Amino acid sequence: MQANIFKIQKTMEPDCSALQTTVYFKGCPLRCSWCSTPKSQNRPTQILWDSKRCLFCGLCEASCPTHSLRFEGNRLVFSPDTCSACRTCIQNCPPRMLHFVGKMMELDEVMDIVLEDKQHYGATGGITLSGGDALLQPNFAANLLRQCHRNSIHTTLETTGFAQPLAFARLIAHTDKLILDIKHYSEKKHVQFTGVSNQTILENMDFAVASGIPVTARITITPGINDTLCDAREFARLFSEHHIKSVYLVRYDSLGAKKYEEFHMPAITASSASFTEENMMRYAKVLQEHGLEVRIFQ
Ligand code: SF4
Ligand code: SF4
Repeated sequence: MQANIFKIQKTMEPDCSALQTTVYFKGCPLRCSWCSTPKSQNRPTQILWDSKRCLFCGLCEASCPTHSLRFEGNRLVFSPDTCSACRTCIQNCPPRMLHFVGKMMELDEVMDIVLEDKQHYGATGGITLSGGDALLQPNFAANLLRQCHRNSIHTTLETTGFAQPLAFARLIAHTDKLILDIKHYSEKKHVQFTGVSNQTILENMDFAVASGIPVTARITITPGINDTLCDAREFARLFSEHHIKSVYLVRYDSLGAKKYEEFHMPAITASSASFTEENMMRYAKVLQEHGLEVRIFQ
């Protein structure tokens, strides 16, 4: 069984008490206009091409045995369906500026990486499934979580929550902690800014809460989209209706704009206006006044 994995990262808790292995899946069902990792949006492996550093020598195109690369005008087009991942193009690129984004990995291969640090996970560490979104590759993700549980490893799922209820339930069955990205309280604005309705997400959130696992809602505060105190009050109302008690606040990452440029994707639409620390504290206070436990990630 294989999945396309964007990257696997190991991080220590700030107090060095425990280690966390985060498996980032490639592919996401949403298209948030403020996404900070646009490279993880598409499910297939992609080739990252830097047009500014390209010599336009054509060696990549000429050396590809499966004709998966071709220049269309001054743009390099990649066909993931025919690419055999032989890396010939990467090795033949004189400035070495071609890179794969995403790697097909076997379940055992990922498990070996997770297990190599089992003794360092402690009481609060373990595995986190992130992305992209693991929900786009649900069979692999559910099996990975199940294997972690068999090995007594704590599991966290960070997700958009946008999936068929059955697929979502399969992952929740082996999830110890759920972090659900709630992009917007308004269905209309959710569709406008992410491309999908929030109704399925809210239904899945209800299911997770009813299943008894700890559920935290995470808001990426994005200027011009959900950053006013009125927005904070609306989020608080929504969370109260859905019995959510814990919220993580994350500041919009304006560095994402540069990544869009690098990857030749349409630019993000979020304003880069600053959202100060003071604004963040006021926003958090509104949520706290509605009985929510709030943690801020700067
Ligand atoms: S990795 Fe191999 S098959 Fe894929 S585009 Fe490069 S040369 Fe072609
Ligand atoms: S081999 Fe590298 S430098 Fe040459 S055209 Fe391809 S991407 Fe550009």
